Amino acid sequence: MITYLTETRNDHFLYFTLDNYKKYRLLIPILLFFNKTYKKCKIFRKEYKYHKNIVVVGLKYYGRNVKRRTNGFAKSFLVKNPDKNCPYCNSKLGDENINADHIIPISKGGNNTKLNLLACCKDCNEERGDVDFYRYLYAKQPKYLEIKYPFI
Ligand SMILES: [Zn+2]
Repeated sequence: MITYLTETRNDHFLYFTLDNYKKYRLLIPILLFFNKTYKKCKIFRKEYKYHKNIVVVGLKYYGRNVKRRTNGFAKSFLVKNPDKNCPYCNSKLGDENINADHIIPISKGGNNTKLNLLACCKDCNEERGDVDFYRYLYAKQPKYLEIKYPFI
C-alpha cells in the first residue's frame, strides 16, 4: 500500500477498498507528497457508482481541467501513432480531426485514465455520445461481430 502511494503513476484516480481507505485516509496526502507525480495535486473523493466497497480518490492538478488532459491524450497518441485510422469509421486521424473518446462515458461512471480513452475522429466522437462502446463499434464495424471476445 505504501509503495502504491509513493510510486504510482496513475494519471487521475487512485483506487482503494473501503477498509484500506479508512485505515490509510490520513496517510494518503502525506505519502502522495513524497510521490513526485502528485506534488501539485488537490485530492478529492469521488463517489463510485457501482462498487460500494471501492473508494476512488481523485487527483486534481492545479490549473488543468479535464478537457485539456483528454486533448493531451489525443495529441500524444498522434505523435506516437502518426498513421492510425479511426477505429469506428476508418478515416485517417490527423491534427484537425482527432478526439479522445471515453470507452465508458463519464456520465456512466467512466474516468479520464488512459485505459478508458481511445483516439477516434471528431465526427464519430460526436455521433457516439453516450452510446455503449460495443454497440457503437458493432454498428460501425460489423466485422467485429464475427470475432468472439475481440478485446479480452
Ligand atoms: Zn470516425
